[in-house]
Amino acid sequence: METTSHDVLLVGGGGAGLRAAIAVAEADPSLDVAVVSKVYPMRSHTVSAEGGAAAVISPDDSLDAHAYDTISGGDWMCDQDAVEAFVREATEEMLRLEHWGCPWSREPDGHIAVRPFGGMKNERTWFAADKTGFHMLHTLYQTSLKYRTTMYDEWFVTRLLVEQGRCQGIVAIQLATGKIHAILAKAVILCTGGCGKVFPFTTNANIKTGDGMALAYRAGVPLKDMEFVQYHPTGLPFTGILITEATRSEGGYLINKDGYRYLQDYDLGKPEPKPVLRSMELGPRDRLSQAFVKELEKGRTVETPHGHVVHLDIRHLGERVIDTKLPFVRELCRKYENLDPVRELIPVRPVVHYMMGGVHTDIHGATSLPGLYAAGEVACVSINGANRLGSNSLTELLVFGARSGKAAAKYAAEQAEPAGGLLAQALDEERRLGEVLLGKANGRERIAGLRDEMQGAMESGAGIYRDAGSLEAAAGRVAEIQERFKSAALDDRSLTFNTERIAWLELSNMLELAEAIIASALARRESRGAHQRTDHPERDDGRYLAHSLAHRHDGGGPRIEYLPVTITRWPPGERVYGR
Ligand SMILES: Cc1cc2nc3c(=O)[nH]c(=O)nc-3n(C[C@H](O)[C@H](O)[C@H](O)COP(=O)(O)OP(=O)(O)OC[C@H]3O[C@@H](n4cnc5c(N)ncnc54)[C@H](O)[C@@H]3O)c2cc1C
Repeated sequence: METTSHDVLLVGGGGAGLRAAIAVAEADPSLDVAVVSKVYPMRSHTVSAEGGAAAVISPDDSLDAHAYDTISGGDWMCDQDAVEAFVREATEEMLRLEHWGCPWSREPDGHIAVRPFGGMKNERTWFAADKTGFHMLHTLYQTSLKYRTTMYDEWFVTRLLVEQGRCQGIVAIQLATGKIHAILAKAVILCTGGCGKVFPFTTNANIKTGDGMALAYRAGVPLKDMEFVQYHPTGLPFTGILITEATRSEGGYLINKDGYRYLQDYDLGKPEPKPVLRSMELGPRDRLSQAFVKELEKGRTVETPHGHVVHLDIRHLGERVIDTKLPFVRELCRKYENLDPVRELIPVRPVVHYMMGGVHTDIHGATSLPGLYAAGEVACVSINGANRLGSNSLTELLVFGARSGKAAAKYAAEQAEPAGGLLAQALDEERRLGEVLLGKANGRERIAGLRDEMQGAMESGAGIYRDAGSLEAAAGRVAEIQERFKSAALDDRSLTFNTERIAWLELSNMLELAEAIIASALARRESRGAHQRTDHPERDDGRYLAHSLAHRHDGGGPRIEYLPVTITRWPPGERVYGR
């Protein structure tokens, strides 16, 4: 087996990974930095972010206002020390990106243009038309090229190497050759993104299988707040492609089958011709997705061959605004729905979009395993609480990517070379991966079928509304799928780009995460943000103003513990929108 070593190793080449890599190189230029990514960095999911990134820039805005919107939007589940650090460092990060070349959209007078976003009481979302993630990722990638960073593109990480109580490297498959490599490191930062593919209908691409969450979980690090799964209210039916919240920031309406702006019936304010901050279509995503379900139950949605939908109406914005501010939305509607939103209504329905939960970290990205850090969507630091506000995630990956990079650089500089016993572990992993490839000739179960069944169980049991019965049913189905997964068949024996072996590994990761999501949702007997229990419809601060921590243990379901939420200046209160 080939073995190499670096000082700091990034797993993931998306926004968080590249920002962290730059931070390591800037913090200590003597450190040797490497990035491992299962896809070419520019194909990481950050590239698909459309709407924008939040940071205070207007004179009539304030850091406290951004913090309060984030905390109340998260239904008081956010750690307020993390939120305070986040809002404080957000603007500096955005300006740094500007200096590195990010083409933020501008006002005619040259000032940075900002747009309103759901749940925010001020306009603070910076954007680059509706291709913000694309421009941010390009900027980060080209900046990272200035440093001596080794890139392992199209390498799939399968295991963390842990020796003497600290993380000291990884094992990965080089996809082009199928060869197994050990990469040793004094510090490892997981930046592997979310796990939307645990569900069937999602804005997330096939690569979002939660690998980093599963790697950390298997290495003994708890997963935090996994029950909080964000549904975005406006995905295209059938494909699940996102129609960005920016459509509503620019003034789009959501209407039911009667052409009625139904959000006025859900305590989100009254309809106005122009968008009103934190009202109606600019309410938070959890409330808007829940309102869709209520409309469905009232029989006021539109039936299509791909499920029930409501309509997003942006016709009144006019062609010029749509082409200037929302060109990608027009392109998506034309390509995937064969309609022109300048003249026609866009069919939309809620779609799984983002994981508020993830690898438990502190505000420097450190996990409970020394030497292991996490940042971006894989991590739960936690600034998103029970419901993330749109446009906070791109900023989060900058702020906490930078923080974890600096912390990992400092840690790595103080460590001795990785320990000798790691190679034995790496050889074990090589044996296991060989068995996956060669030992599954006679299996009966198909990976794609098992994946579909798992996704179906999650949608029906752990969707927008859940209860004990639906969650227990999902737990039973996932346990049964886990059992059948042991006899999954692999037909492809080749080493070169064996996507079937990768699909097997990804499914094994997702099954672990599905169990953690269900167990965390079952244990939380209250409703808060994106976690709505019809059998426990009230928020219960007395018992559950606490983060869930799912610990893995062999031979049983996850063990759930709780950790108090950090409150600094904003005691729990009512979430008020539209007033
Ligand atoms: C369609 C869409 C639009 C969005 N729009 C916005 C928006 O406007 N504003 C906002 O704030 N947020 C938005 N979000 C959310 C935001 O884009 C993501 O949360 C964020 O980009 C995640 O970045 P990341 O760096 O954590 O992960 P990603 O960009 O997903 O990168 C993950 C990296 O990990 C690597 N990786 C994963 N597993 C492995 C493995 N096993 N081995 C090796 N490498 C691995 C991948 O190759 C990739 O490089 C949007 C999300 C979607 C899906």
